[in-house]
Amino acid sequence: MGTVIQVLFFTFAGVFLLWFGYTLFFAVSGGGSIPSPGGGKQGKTRITGVPGDPRTCPVCSAKLEKGERVKSSAFPSFTGTDRLMHIAGCVYCLEGDRRRSCPVCGAVLRDGEFLIARLFEKPHRSHVHVLGCSRCKKHGSLF
Ligand SMILES: [Zn+2]
Ligand SMILES: [Zn+2]
Repeated sequence: MGTVIQVLFFTFAGVFLLWFGYTLFFAVSGGGSIPSPGGGKQGKTRITGVPGDPRTCPVCSAKLEKGERVKSSAFPSFTGTDRLMHIAGCVYCLEGDRRRSCPVCGAVLRDGEFLIARLFEKPHRSHVHVLGCSRCKKHGSLF
């Protein structure tokens, strides 16, 4: 007598449980977001530093990082307080495409031209005072 209904009921229950377990299984395993490999891109864009800062290139005003140096040559001191200095530029304006310009006269420097500056050597912090470039300042002139 009621066996057909019973079989139907158990079949239905079985299917329901199977479906329930199925969705439960996928609800647990699926849907989780894959953690993206962290770290934003670090572009090598050169930010402009503060003029006069020892970490700023006086020729192209690029902000330099530790280990990046301005190519310059200092001469023996005449007065004892400061030294004459020729500044060619940094890696970004000598080897890169940053424009080399004189902060005094504004001229764009060509190859072989350089800035003339006075280097004040102080115990804690040296100061570089740019006098001009090889175009607006004559060689050997201190002032
Ligand atoms: Zn530079
Ligand atoms: Zn100049």
